[in-house]
Amino acid sequence: MNLLTQDKNNIWHPFTSLKGADDPILIESGEGVYLKTHDGKKIIDAVSSWWVNIHGHSHPAIAKAIAEQALKLEHVIFAGFTHEPAIKLSENVLTILPDNQSKIFFSDNGSTAVEVGIKMALQYWHNQGIERKKIIAIDGAYHGDTFGAMSVGERSIFTAPFQDHLFQTIFIDFPNAENEEIVYQRFQQLVVEDNVAAFIYEPLVQGAAGMRMYSSTLLDKMIGFAQEHDVICIADEVFTGFGRTGELFASYHMTYKPDIMAISKGLSGGTLPIGITSCSKKIVGAFDSSEVGKTFFHGHSFTANPLACAASNASFELLMKAECRQNILKISSLHRSFKERIEQSDKLADVRSLGTVLAVELRTDTGTSYTSPVRKKIYPYFLERGILLRPLGNIIYILPPYVIKEDELKFIYDEIEKFINNEL
Ligand SMILES: *Cc1c(COP(=O)(O)O)cnc(C)c1O
Repeated sequence: MNLLTQDKNNIWHPFTSLKGADDPILIESGEGVYLKTHDGKKIIDAVSSWWVNIHGHSHPAIAKAIAEQALKLEHVIFAGFTHEPAIKLSENVLTILPDNQSKIFFSDNGSTAVEVGIKMALQYWHNQGIERKKIIAIDGAYHGDTFGAMSVGERSIFTAPFQDHLFQTIFIDFPNAENEEIVYQRFQQLVVEDNVAAFIYEPLVQGAAGMRMYSSTLLDKMIGFAQEHDVICIADEVFTGFGRTGELFASYHMTYKPDIMAISKGLSGGTLPIGITSCSKKIVGAFDSSEVGKTFFHGHSFTANPLACAASNASFELLMKAECRQNILKISSLHRSFKERIEQSDKLADVRSLGTVLAVELRTDTGTSYTSPVRKKIYPYFLERGILLRPLGNIIYILPPYVIKEDELKFIYDEIEKFINNEL
């Protein structure tokens, strides 16, 4: 039987209708920014395979690290046991996280990293016998697909079936140039008046909401004010970590540092699933006890999997090279020039860029929803031209692996510009 028929019979793909969806594309191998299909076509992975890949596909240094680790120790229970790859990774990550971060808790993916962050923040108060339970989040937020992560995220067609089972969260409006002062005032009111346990946010850019960007000055003020009132600030850097926004972490764009950080995606260079939740000494303090009830009872079978840790350490080495830093700066600057080149077009509602992220918002009369019909046109259009772009509704975005070459990026820009000029 043909592989695609077997796929159709057996497999349920993520974020995909069981009926009417196009056949998936069968990928046989990957190299650098290219994915290679079974029938020999090359596709530029302009979205870093759902935002995870930073050094290109099948990077030999990461592959080697995984292979060597697999022959030594593939996995071991992480309660009561430990291993060098995890210890080394904790050291590596702590050297690049904001210096108030003091401990590393491992899990498997972005959603679990967020769940752990929320649970840590709630138990921080519980362990001290203080009634603080409410969580503030930002309208449009996406923090993952597990129940806690869904609860602090935007309610939409995606979460509707589970609405009654999600815990209540207080949402503040998404800040923009017009409402910034009002949003800040409302935020201050909530922080002062309510029993707020935590504030969770995607620093500077909401990825899933359409690469929506907001002011670092405002966010800095919000974190500062929240911390002044002991509200635990959780930075969800699952998407923004490891250079995506130009800085190693988006939190470096602000002066106030989060109490808790969730990271994943780029951590292993996009090779193996792993998540980390880090926290400050203040958080650790509430758990620093031998009382059973104050223990953080959370863990996954594959906590700190040695293969994923080895991949992450290899990815870290690549990230620390001057070449990687230069690549990030080069992409950032090319993105800015492209933005300047096209932003006057009356076919566009907005063009924005931050670090290696570029978003082009098309002017459509169907609104900005994820299900916007223009998406159905964009996706196959670019695939036919050998470019993987996965628009969020009417928003086309590029966030490539950092190893992308200038001519490859220019090819993508030119194709986008042609699409805007000729197809809209
Ligand atoms: C992708 C993402 C998550 C969820 O990560 P998964 O690994 O897909 O579970 C959480 N928060 C943000 C900001 C994300 O972009």
